[in-house]
Amino acid sequence: MNKNLNGLLQKVWPQKKILLSFITVLTLASCDKNEGIMEEAQTNSINSQNIKKGQLGGQAITYERKNGMNFFQGDIVLSDEQLAGNESHNKGGATLSRWPSGKIYYTVASNMGSINANKITNAVNEYNNKTNTQWIPRTNQTNYVEFIFGSSSGYDGWAHIGYQGGKQNISLDQNIDLASVIHEMGHTVGLYHEHCRKDRDQYVSIQWNNIQNGQAYNFDIYNSGTDIGPFNINSVMMYWPNSYSKNGQPTIKRANGTNFTYNRTGFTTGDLNTINSMYP
Ligand SMILES: [Zn+2]
Repeated sequence: MNKNLNGLLQKVWPQKKILLSFITVLTLASCDKNEGIMEEAQTNSINSQNIKKGQLGGQAITYERKNGMNFFQGDIVLSDEQLAGNESHNKGGATLSRWPSGKIYYTVASNMGSINANKITNAVNEYNNKTNTQWIPRTNQTNYVEFIFGSSSGYDGWAHIGYQGGKQNISLDQNIDLASVIHEMGHTVGLYHEHCRKDRDQYVSIQWNNIQNGQAYNFDIYNSGTDIGPFNINSVMMYWPNSYSKNGQPTIKRANGTNFTYNRTGFTTGDLNTINSMYP
């Protein structure tokens, strides 16, 4: 996920939580980057020169240009064509950029390693058993996704959003957890982040004063997407409560000001309903 999605990454598992907590303490002063999917990205200090303005689905957005790619909301990679807004499948999100017939062909990079290869297998089984999308090992298809290896030390991932046409990627770091793999595959299916829904302010309160300098744009509402079903704070597509925190304090709370517990054990019923609504 992107770098600072800290949240995303964190998602997770007990062991990881322990590790993350430890890391957070160590790096508080430097703004806990470790929490999210995007840890890696976060590790690279934000270079304001890389922060760009663009158009996505008719909406002005802010994104980060890094390593030759366009990162939106931390771990979502937008193609140059999507940002140019001049191609037929340029909107991503819940209504466009869907995979034909819900069939997603995939390959796994040869350097992925067995640990992550097993996570991919388990995540694919989750999708194939619980959703109307079918992830199918590629033979000779032109349009497909390749799982590529990110870094041997990171906890993050990133993915192109929705169906791109041609080859697209999902990047997985060595220490990413299964739920985060499912999260990244959610981007491939066409899902954005739950906290960017148009109605999110009814359910969550963004703690702007706790967000790292330069990262506030990751909390912008994305109006051009289509919100399906009710807001789901337990969604596998939700940011972690401390995503991009500069001080160890939550950057997202419930609308009533209370903290919420990050739930990233896998699909919630709401996630499945959303995906199956997109792929009936
Ligand atoms: Zn994400």
